[in-house]
Amino acid sequence: VNFMAPLLSLQEIDGRIRELQQEIRDIPTRKGMEKGRLSDTTERLESAKAKYQGMQAKIADLDTSIALQNERIRKFRQQQLSLRTNEEFRAMGQQIQSAEKEVERLELEQLTLQEGLDPMKEDMESIRAKLAEELEGVDATLNELEERMVQAEEMLGKLKKERIEAEKAVSKQFLQYYIRVKKSRWPVAVPLQDGSVCGGCHLVQPPSSLRMLEHNTVPVTCQMCGRMLYLDS
Ligand SMILES: [Zn+2]
Repeated sequence: VNFMAPLLSLQEIDGRIRELQQEIRDIPTRKGMEKGRLSDTTERLESAKAKYQGMQAKIADLDTSIALQNERIRKFRQQQLSLRTNEEFRAMGQQIQSAEKEVERLELEQLTLQEGLDPMKEDMESIRAKLAEELEGVDATLNELEERMVQAEEMLGKLKKERIEAEKAVSKQFLQYYIRVKKSRWPVAVPLQDGSVCGGCHLVQPPSSLRMLEHNTVPVTCQMCGRMLYLDS
């Protein structure tokens, strides 16, 4: 491993850099998912609110209808005073009675609706409380993610500095090869497994490769994937 050691150190740093970069890339998605959690409850709250407000509007409409009927009754009574015949008086009396019945009916309907209002309000409040609770949880997670982002970026900065030093220790020829293969394969340097298999693509290597690796003087690459092989001692 000796002559591979600087390259393996570089690869180790690059591995950590890749992980951090991946994490940094994923954080916005994770934030979005976290916020998305709230949308279910928000929707439920909106629909409960709409139901409640709809009911309130119906009750208010009934108020208007009741007021209209009462106004009619008041006018009928006034008119009744000016009527001449008993027959006309009785007819107006019937109109008044039927308007009064209508008022009763409307008031009863309104009462029934009002009784339904409280459970609706309770339902709405409990969803609102749940949403507040969820919001708190989501806020906490979002803060954690922010913090993690800052840490990851800080660490990434440090590693990039370390990387510059680590790269200097690797021979130019190795480095060029490593950088080229890194574009399509990761990791670039892999241990030979079970004495003969590439640790990356699992191709069985020829015996000559093992012999060269045992001499530990020249780089040996996999014929299939091009990864650099080393003996994991
Ligand atoms: Zn391979």
